[in-house]
Amino acid sequence: MSDGILVINAGSSSIKFSLYVGKKDGSLQLSSKGLVEGIGVAPSFQAKGPDGSPLAEKQWGKEVDRTALLGHLLEWIEVHLGDVELKAAGHRVVHGGRLYSAPMRVDDAVFKELQKLIPLAPLHQPHNLAAIEAITKLHPKLPQVACFDTAFHRSHDKLASGFALPRFLLDEGVQRYGFHGLSYEYIAKRLRQLAPEVARGRVVVCHLGSGASMCAIANGVSVASSMGFTALDGLPMGTRPGQLDPGVVLYLLQEKNMTAKEIETLLYQKSGLLGISGISNDMRVLMESQDPHAREAVDYFVYRIGRELGSLAAALGGLDAVVFTAGIGERSAEIRAAVIRQAAWLGLALDEAANHTGEGRISSAEASCSAWVIPTDEELMIATHSLEVLGKV
Ligand code: ADP
Repeated sequence: MSDGILVINAGSSSIKFSLYVGKKDGSLQLSSKGLVEGIGVAPSFQAKGPDGSPLAEKQWGKEVDRTALLGHLLEWIEVHLGDVELKAAGHRVVHGGRLYSAPMRVDDAVFKELQKLIPLAPLHQPHNLAAIEAITKLHPKLPQVACFDTAFHRSHDKLASGFALPRFLLDEGVQRYGFHGLSYEYIAKRLRQLAPEVARGRVVVCHLGSGASMCAIANGVSVASSMGFTALDGLPMGTRPGQLDPGVVLYLLQEKNMTAKEIETLLYQKSGLLGISGISNDMRVLMESQDPHAREAVDYFVYRIGRELGSLAAALGGLDAVVFTAGIGERSAEIRAAVIRQAAWLGLALDEAANHTGEGRISSAEASCSAWVIPTDEELMIATHSLEVLGKV
């Protein structure tokens, strides 16, 4: 009988899952993936095989609570697994605070610590923890592992994680944490396999999805990130503004009389590419649009990547390679080309044909700083961590 690992990525309105099966050689193979979406309204469930072929679908006409939906998911998984035994559930948990620099098996004490971090990530952490709680209720004996988006960045020194704020705020954990850590950890690992000499150098990874950030990595270790205390800082994203003068928030409070809740909605859901363009948060739509505001949103995205690249290269004391990953980074040859053109001063130069192929090295032979496209796989990272954590108990 082989081992199954369930990976859960729970958000406010959807729960994504991936199911992996352990192979004899120790590797993990994706067996199915899918999601429950429309939570809180009229949820639906769908599961697909590793090749994208549909395996199951279900639609509820009314609101169903999260525990019941997870119950349905677990039931489907038990049947789908056949003679594979479910060994653990690994969760993506956005915040591990200052305490957790590695994945943790969740017990009561760990769960309580993670609850304390809800104010630091109010839009994500409660949903991550609700999924852990629901699985504990449904399957009390199933080991659960929390894998943190912040953990990979716990290697940052005091300067990289600091803010120039009064000491009492720093002491209670108001600092830069950095996110997308599971993606960066996966990319650092893949780069070691693909090009070990590059992985030993100074690398900036651009995770460009609907959430976007950049990370400076020296010899496989994260030294700085564009994201800060929350996942709002750094690059503009689908609906978040990225770097912003805090004076703008004061202006909204004092001059526009907006409430904290309204500002939260403006910053998390109405800004970024959607805010500038007024059209869409989807990069594909903006790139096809003739509207000048759509062009401006794309140009601002590229411009801010260039600014962050300079800043992270400074944090690294130079730059040997840039890696593109996630939805936009993996699929948009045009955005990659624009970023590389703009960063020619850092020694980057494009191999047009390789960029259109879109995988592996995409810089020309004469570039002193190489450029790469490496698809990320946060779910596989979580499954791998979960197996490792189980092996230690
Ligand atoms: P998430 O953060 O939700 O995991 P993804 O990594 O899937 O996001 O990235 C989603 C983003 O990738 C969207 O903005 C989408 O428009 C963009 N994207 C996907 N395919 C392309 C493409 N071919 N060209 C440009 N952007 C793309």
